[in-house]
Amino acid sequence: MSLIRNAKLLLTIVIAAVTIAGKAQSSDQMHQQMHQQMLADQVNIHKEVNLLDSVTMLYRLQEEELLFPALDLYESWNNDWVNPYRGQNVKLPDSLKIDVSDYFPPTLGHVTSNFGWRRRRMHNGIDLKVQTGDTIYAAFSGKIRVRKFERRGYGYYLVVRHNNGLETVYGHLSKFLVKQDDVVKAGQPIALGGNTGRSTGSHLHFETRLMGQVINPNDIIDFNNKVAHTDTYLFQSKKSRAVANGTIGPGGIAYHRVKSGDSLSRISKIYGVSVSQLCKLNKITPTTTLQIGQRLRYN
Ligand SMILES: [Zn+2]
Repeated sequence: MSLIRNAKLLLTIVIAAVTIAGKAQSSDQMHQQMHQQMLADQVNIHKEVNLLDSVTMLYRLQEEELLFPALDLYESWNNDWVNPYRGQNVKLPDSLKIDVSDYFPPTLGHVTSNFGWRRRRMHNGIDLKVQTGDTIYAAFSGKIRVRKFERRGYGYYLVVRHNNGLETVYGHLSKFLVKQDDVVKAGQPIALGGNTGRSTGSHLHFETRLMGQVINPNDIIDFNNKVAHTDTYLFQSKKSRAVANGTIGPGGIAYHRVKSGDSLSRISKIYGVSVSQLCKLNKITPTTTLQIGQRLRYN
């Protein structure tokens, strides 16, 4: 009995010793592991702090972008005029890629009057059929810059500056659904269509501009299919387009290529040159018939 007891006791002691030794070893390892973990945690904490900094920075940039859309292009935020940049020595880029992938049609109405010359006046936008009370949507994301009334012109109108750098104008509205300086998303309802200002019959007058410079909306948007032609619109200044299509020659001599509907008076207005000056430069008379495709020197 006692032998067995002693043996049992011995066995118990041995087991205990082994267990303690094992525990001691494992606790030592654990201690080491803890140290490593703590060091690693410290690194992770640093990483997290850095990540947090970057996220905060990103948010600040996004907030700034929301406060002043396209801040890199525009220095001022004017709430009074469609084109406050005129005479402000604004330098339009020679070319600029504009992201128009978030385009949302302001209305689904068809085109009732196109961009361009009509009745001896330049039509700076495109007219789209709406019924008074139809919802008008923001074409791109941005911020409401102008919310005004112009009795002889746009009527109730909005100007939105977009994050992509464009500005759009919405005229002849009957009701505003946004306030000045509101931040809007592409496709957000901003107004109701109408017939206010210089307008006969309810329609939406819609303009696209870059730093005040009018852009033909048809160059960006396919109004039949109500989508942007491409995700990126390449803006080119008049000068870089002229160089590209060969209407600026050696020595800076500039030419206008005659299009359908052109007249000497129209061309003189485009370039700010008198008709008689145009005639002298091109050795023609005011009654000369212009040929489509013909080049006319204007400087
Ligand atoms: Zn119009």
